[in-house]
Amino acid sequence: MMDGRDIFDAIRDRSGDTEFYLPLPAGYQLGSTKYVVVFGTVMSGLGKGIFSSSLAKCLQDKGLMVAPVKLEGYLNIDAGTLNPFRHGEVFVLDDGTECDMDLGTYERALDQNLTQLNFVTSGQIYRRVLERERTGGYLGRDVQMIPHVTGEVKNRLRELAVASRADVVFVEIGGTVGDVENAYYIEAVRQLAFEEGQRSVCFVALTYVLEPAILGEQKSKAAQLGIRRLLECGIQPHIIACRAQNPVTRKVREKIALFSNVPPDRVFSMHDCESVYQIPEMLRAAGYDRAVIEWLQLESRVDESAEKRAREVWARYLAGLRAAERQVTIGIMGKYTAVRDAYASILKALEHAGVYWGCKVQVRWVDTSELTSDNVAQAFRGLNGIIVPGAFGTRGSEGKIACLRHARTTGLPCLGICYGFQMAVVEFARNVCGLTEANSTEIDSECRHPVINLLPEQRRIEGLGGTMRLGGQDIVVKEGTLAYRMFGPRARMRFRHRYEVDPRYVPQLEAGGLVFSGRSPRAEIMNVFELPPDVHPYYVGTQAHPELTSRPLSPQPMFVGLVHAALRQACPDFREPLTFGPLVVPSESPHTEPVS
Ligand code: GLN
Repeated sequence: MMDGRDIFDAIRDRSGDTEFYLPLPAGYQLGSTKYVVVFGTVMSGLGKGIFSSSLAKCLQDKGLMVAPVKLEGYLNIDAGTLNPFRHGEVFVLDDGTECDMDLGTYERALDQNLTQLNFVTSGQIYRRVLERERTGGYLGRDVQMIPHVTGEVKNRLRELAVASRADVVFVEIGGTVGDVENAYYIEAVRQLAFEEGQRSVCFVALTYVLEPAILGEQKSKAAQLGIRRLLECGIQPHIIACRAQNPVTRKVREKIALFSNVPPDRVFSMHDCESVYQIPEMLRAAGYDRAVIEWLQLESRVDESAEKRAREVWARYLAGLRAAERQVTIGIMGKYTAVRDAYASILKALEHAGVYWGCKVQVRWVDTSELTSDNVAQAFRGLNGIIVPGAFGTRGSEGKIACLRHARTTGLPCLGICYGFQMAVVEFARNVCGLTEANSTEIDSECRHPVINLLPEQRRIEGLGGTMRLGGQDIVVKEGTLAYRMFGPRARMRFRHRYEVDPRYVPQLEAGGLVFSGRSPRAEIMNVFELPPDVHPYYVGTQAHPELTSRPLSPQPMFVGLVHAALRQACPDFREPLTFGPLVVPSESPHTEPVS
């Protein structure tokens, strides 16, 4: 049977005289990679990233190699210049890519480090098309949305396929079907499915089933209309996932099936549940994973024993989440406290550390803009520990300094992250080292003691966007410190900053008792500080963003330490010694050596 692959043969000898524009990256084998494409219909905010990452995890658990990619509609080149207040946190990958928080969801679910290849924006696509135009890449042709821009989208997907050697590329299209911004992505995957051939692409439509309180029953009309828009784009979904508050009834699923040419056994419910980490099991129980495997004809690549092991390990995490006996309350002393998404990775890292210690971590949001040394004690009531998170600018900085002073002088467990680390150094300089006019030049460019100052390389940089010190960096850890117990001689964390501890003040800060236990191997950049155990039970800070590398089965040590110290504070009967390591002890698996 003829299929889209024959086009490539047909145009091969026409030396450019064709309506098609079909670049293929070197090494790409047409039809050998499978794709799952997830679309959102009806409305945004349905948790498309969580759904896609959970489905990708189901396939990964079966022994398949998966590579996720998010296609963003916006024209920004990356997420670095977005306000976390509007868009949620900026997630940073090890290679320095500043991206959407969904990439964090994928990294955590798949326990996999992603790169710039996994994150596409319209800005990147158009930039590439325009650059190619300027260098004569389309000579003689008018450059068009179809085939050139759509061609570039397919090219990006295939580049990821080559680089990752994945069995299945998981494509999440940002936004909702019907948006102007993502229309050309939808057109591109329509073409992709035709070119790759039958059963190479599985289209999954995520939709929403309404349940208005006044009716007390589920209504499918909005879902039907949303899916119809997808059909209008020439895309026949193969699987439909119905988001809803409660399990979607058979009757409603049948109705959606009837209106969308999808067999009822491929229209599934995806209702609300307690933790996002329960979703993979929910998808498996419903049969999503089987439906994808069958559609893409991947049965022969499934490794059932690998799946059994992976599910057992994951079940340990879920059991830990449910069985939590104790509870601690951690205050997040921030600026964007009204939007939980601005601190998504911190919340996850706290959850991971909570499961490690078998305790529930309750979070309390504290807005620091109104805090002073007079009212700070009140804001601390009921807290067993605090986190002072990353930030930019001046608002709330004095409030944060008041919080840090309170935590330091009262022995309350405290973790300072990036800006929080910098403010802790300012506080220490002022109140311990006697540098009363200490500050960060980000806040006061003329201050007398700039203990936090611009990184030398930042002085030469012009423009915003991708210009901070970004991404994963190695850290040399000092022997005999708490950080050494956490990481050993070397750590690696991810960074996103312009300012640092001014090295000229390091001797004075150290003389005051602050221990810089982690430094950059190349430059004089202070990366981790701590107070000795005889001075404070847990007062730790880092210039990095430790929350970005916490994973469910390997919680980040700085959060493990914070929750442990908070537990000691909250529960006098809690006596467990402080340990660090993976959640499931490797010695339980027959193939790995126990780690001390
Ligand atoms: N604004 C500070 C800097 O640029 C801290 C950044 C952050 O917290 N991510 O160094």
